[in-house]
Amino acid sequence: MDYNIPLFDLNYDDKEENAVLDVLRSKWISTGPKSQELEEMFCEYFKVEHAVSLTNCTVALHLAMEVLGLQEGDEVICPSLTFVATANAIRYVGAKPVFADIKSEETLTIDPEHIKKLITDKTKAIVVMHYAGFACEMDEILSIARENNLKVIEDACHGPLSEFKDKKLGTIGDVGCFSFFSNKNLSTGEGGMLLTNNRELAEKAKLMRSHGMTTMSYNRAKGHSTSYDVVALGYNYRMDDIRASLGIVQLGKLPEDLEKRSKVRFAYERALESVNNIKVPFKNHPYFSSNYIFPIVLSENVEKSRDEIRDLLHKSGIQTSIHYPPVHLFDIYYDEKERGLSKTESVYNRLITLPMYGKLAEEKVDYICKKLKEYAV
Ligand SMILES: *Cc1c(COP(=O)(O)O)cnc(C)c1O
Repeated sequence: MDYNIPLFDLNYDDKEENAVLDVLRSKWISTGPKSQELEEMFCEYFKVEHAVSLTNCTVALHLAMEVLGLQEGDEVICPSLTFVATANAIRYVGAKPVFADIKSEETLTIDPEHIKKLITDKTKAIVVMHYAGFACEMDEILSIARENNLKVIEDACHGPLSEFKDKKLGTIGDVGCFSFFSNKNLSTGEGGMLLTNNRELAEKAKLMRSHGMTTMSYNRAKGHSTSYDVVALGYNYRMDDIRASLGIVQLGKLPEDLEKRSKVRFAYERALESVNNIKVPFKNHPYFSSNYIFPIVLSENVEKSRDEIRDLLHKSGIQTSIHYPPVHLFDIYYDEKERGLSKTESVYNRLITLPMYGKLAEEKVDYICKKLKEYAV
C-alpha cells in the first residue's frame, strides 16, 4: 500500500546525487578519502577524539564488544525495548545479554535501578540505547558502571547530535555506535560509525574493521606503504567512499533537519493535548533530541487494541510502526521469556510510532492527531 503519509521520508536532493557522481568519477569507490573526511567531520560535530567508519551499526556494536574485551562467560546488561541488533551483538562475542526493564511509560529508556539488581560477578558491561534520541539517565548509569567496574556502550543509533548536558550522545560511555541505515536521521543506505575518546580502542577498531591488516589499500595505492602484516583475526567491516560521500552531505544537513523535527514534535504535542487517551513519552525531557521517531502510548482504558487502531490509521493513509517488539520475547531468546519485564511488556502492547521527518507538514500532523482522537477510544 502506498501511504499518503509515510512513516519516514529521505532528506535527499541533488547534493547527494552530485556527491556520489564525484566519487564515481574519481574512480576511488572503496574506503578512502571520503570515509576519512566523514570521520573527521564526526570528530568535529560530535566533539570526540576518534571516529571509525563502518559497514553498519550492527558491526559497530560487535567491534565495540571486541575492543572492550568482552567474551564467553561475560554478562552484559541491555534493554529489551530496542532493535534486536543491540542484544545480538553481545552474543557475537559469546557473552550473554541480560535484559533490563524500561524506567516507565514516560521514560522508555533503561531503568538504572533495575540495572543495579541485575549485576552479578559475571557482569562486565552495560549497553544503553537512547530511545528516539532521548538520553538515558547517564549520571546514574555511569556511577553504577564506575562502582562495579563495568564498561558502557552507547547504542546511539537514534540520537545523532542529541545531547546529555554538554555532551553529544555516543561520546559519554566508552564507545558509541551509530547507524546510517536508510530510515535513520542520517541515511546512506547502509553504514555505521564507532566513536570513542580512547585512542587504544579506536586503533583496535580500525585494525579489526580491515582484516587485522596493518595498512589499508588506499595508503598502499597512494604509495604510503607497500606491504602489510596481519596481526589480529579481523573482519571486513569497512564503509566505502560512495556511502561516505552521502554521509558527508547528510551530516552537513543534519542540524537543520533536527530543528525541523523539533518543530514537528512540538506540533504533535500541541495537537495531542486535547486527546485524553494518548500519552506522549519524554514530555519534559530536558535535553536536545534528534527525534528519530515519534512514539505514543495508548492509555490502559482504550478499548480498541493497539493493532486495530494501527489498521484504522493505515486505512486513512497513515503509516505507523512499533519500536519495538521486545527482544526478550523473540523466539531466539526464548529462555528469557519469563524475565518479567512488566513495564516493557505493558508499554509494548500500547505503543505506536507515528510518522516523523523534517518535511512533515503541520496540517498532516493535525490530520494524524484528528484521526487518532477518533480511533483511540
Ligand atoms: C538501526 C538500529 C541498529 C542497527 O543498525 P544497522 O546499521 O542497520 O546495523 C541497532 N540499534 C538500533 C537501536 C537501531 O535503531
